Parts: sequence; C-alpha cells; structure tokens
Amino acid sequence: MNRPLTRAVLALGSNLGERNDTLAAAVADLVDRPEVRLTDVSPVIQTKAVGGPAGQPNFLNMVMGIETSLDPYELLEHCQKVEAKHLRVREVHWGPRTLDVDIVVYGDVVSDDPVLTIPHPRASQRAFVLYPWALMDPGAELGGESVSELAIKASDFADIEMFDGYESQPAGAV
Ligand code: ATP
Ligand code: CA
Ligand code: CA
Repeated sequence: MNRPLTRAVLALGSNLGERNDTLAAAVADLVDRPEVRLTDVSPVIQTKAVGGPAGQPNFLNMVMGIETSLDPYELLEHCQKVEAKHLRVREVHWGPRTLDVDIVVYGDVVSDDPVLTIPHPRASQRAFVLYPWALMDPGAELGGESVSELAIKASDFADIEMFDGYESQPAGAV
C-alpha cells in the first residue's frame, strides 16, 4: 500500500565548483524518483559561509518544497545519495562542500534523533535557509513563527544577496 504524501522542505547549499549547476542538477536528481514530487523551488541566494574554517568560498543556497511518500529516514538516505553523486567531500566540519542537502521540515514531524533531527535544529537561526524559504512560501511558519520574521531576525540576514545565475568562475578548487 502506498504511504500518504507528506510535504517537506529541503535546503541545498554549494560552495565549491560550478555551484549553480550543481544546485540545478541536485534538484533534478532529488525529484528523479516516483516517490518524490517537486512542488516549489526558491530563488538562489549567495551568502558568506557561516561557521567552519575562515576564508572559504561564498555559498549559494536555495530551498525546495516536495511531496513525498518516503519516510523521513528514507528521505535522508536519498538526500545523502544525491550529495554523494555530486562528489561531496566532507573533510572538515562545516567546511567547503560541493553539495549539502538538509531536511528542514517533514510534515509536522518533530524528532530529536541526532541521525535525523526535524525540524532541522539550526534552521530557525539561519537566514540562508529562512529567507529563500520565505520567498518561496511567504506564509510559511516554523515552530509557530513566521519564517520571514525569523529570517529578518537571523544574524546572517544582512549578508544575503540575490544570485543572478551567472557564475563568472567556479568557486574554490575541486
Ligand atoms: P548542519 O547540520 O549544521 O547544517 P552540516 O549540514 O554541515 O551541518 P553534515 O555533515 O551534512 O552537517 O551532517 C551531519 C549529520 O547530520 C548527517 O550525517 C545526518 O545524519 C545528521 N542530520 C541530523 N538532522 C538532519 C537533518 N534534518 N537533515 C540532514 N541531516 C541531518
Ligand atoms: Ca547543512
Ligand atoms: Ca547536511
């Protein structure tokens, strides 16, 4: 029997290589199975890297809305496979990466399992997640608060720029 569809929001980030191409390919890969349907994509924004080693290239970030019949752990595994396909190298915690895919929310599910914490425990303080989410879905709420108001309050809000889609040269060395 098919499981019911659940709405989820995924956050994507890239700060190595052809960042914009990677994000576009990752969106296509994430919905390239019958259990996942794309409902919305946000604009792409550019942000300074938050945390991690100093001097790493700027990130491109975006979010996407899906409806899925995968359970939360199956969805996490699927996201990690797409990261691996895009040659994610994870050497330094919060360091540069070709692709990061996080599950921001999965329906109304709340879980504090370290393997999969939902809502994502740091999303409510990250304008680089909240701002594109608010652009994609102006009425969105997280933990009962307006996502756009949370975005404005986040400390990295002032560092966000819209990204116009033109990549003058690949970021960093891959
Ligand atoms: P952050 O979680 O602060 O954004 P990160 O994305 O760099 O940091 P990763 O190295 O990509 O962290 O992930 C570490 C682990 O986090 C993953 O192996 C995964 O099991 C776990 N994790 C827990 N909750 C989530 C979630 N909501 N989405 C994705 N991964 C999660
Ligand atoms: Ca992340
Ligand atoms: Ca991650």
